[in-house]
Amino acid sequence: MRYPEELYRKADEVLQSRRMLAAWILDKHKDTVQKQHSDIYRLYEELQLNGAVLGPLLITCNPVEIAQQIAKQESRKERLAEALAAAGLPLDYLQLQPACPLCRDLGYCRESEFATARRCQCRQEILNQLAYDWLSTHSQVRDCSFEDFDLKYYEGDNARWMAKVLESCKRYAEGFTPQSPDLLFRGPTGLGKTHLSLAIAAQVVSTGRLVLYASAGTLLDRLADDRFGKAANPEYKEIAYGCELLIIDDLGAEFGNSFTQAAVYNLVNIRRIEHRPTIINTNLTFKEIEQRYGQRVLSRLANDYQVIVFEGKDIRYQKRAGELSARKEKV
Ligand SMILES: [Zn+2]
Repeated sequence: MRYPEELYRKADEVLQSRRMLAAWILDKHKDTVQKQHSDIYRLYEELQLNGAVLGPLLITCNPVEIAQQIAKQESRKERLAEALAAAGLPLDYLQLQPACPLCRDLGYCRESEFATARRCQCRQEILNQLAYDWLSTHSQVRDCSFEDFDLKYYEGDNARWMAKVLESCKRYAEGFTPQSPDLLFRGPTGLGKTHLSLAIAAQVVSTGRLVLYASAGTLLDRLADDRFGKAANPEYKEIAYGCELLIIDDLGAEFGNSFTQAAVYNLVNIRRIEHRPTIINTNLTFKEIEQRYGQRVLSRLANDYQVIVFEGKDIRYQKRAGELSARKEKV
């Protein structure tokens, strides 16, 4: 899956600013040495000058002369290292120090001169972070982790069941691959469906996979805009269909029409065929899913999705009630 274009652009900006920073630091170091250690600076300039002329010499000179030139250059390097050490400066003080020595902050590197350039790990790490930031601008992912999921709001059998649900969600996130099953989180409002699906999202996006989280209303509105030529972001549909994990929150809360029925089926169906897992949260029963989206969607969700039922009392209601009673106690 390609990331959204804005992420590539931002990754290149990060790399460019790293290169500029490394060049700026080197200039500062040169300036310091020139002002405070002119003997070291002369050695450095000599080394640079001879390094520049050594390349052409390697092509034209005879082997004996080449060996002599290389030996002289090595000797200059040693003298410079000794001079830097004597002045209490690091040996690499007059060298460019990129954040990534593998690609020198270019974002691409090659195994050898003639090998194909490949994306450097540092660029992938920048993209991972940007993908997480991107997800967090579209969801509350920063507020939802497995550690924050509190089982104290569930009682008796529900608590035991939800402990199992929590564990299976953790396993799903840790072992996530394109072959992972689709999940249907089903149950009344306020039982942690959104929280656990976002906790999965946070873990999956941290491994460099592109995750899109959207409420069913937003997702279907944007797909409708695309269908009817009004899309503000033409990439959105591509991302919804192509991201490695799609989370559709609160399916059934959106305004329904004949477009939404076909759009949900196409999205669910194509993602399944192409092995791109989807997690759907819904309050609807299977009967309501059939009434709203038709037999084909019901068949996909009931037969092909792994259904996880959420049970208990509304957590948001319990939290509010707890806050109210705490306030009363204070009064
Ligand atoms: Zn790199």
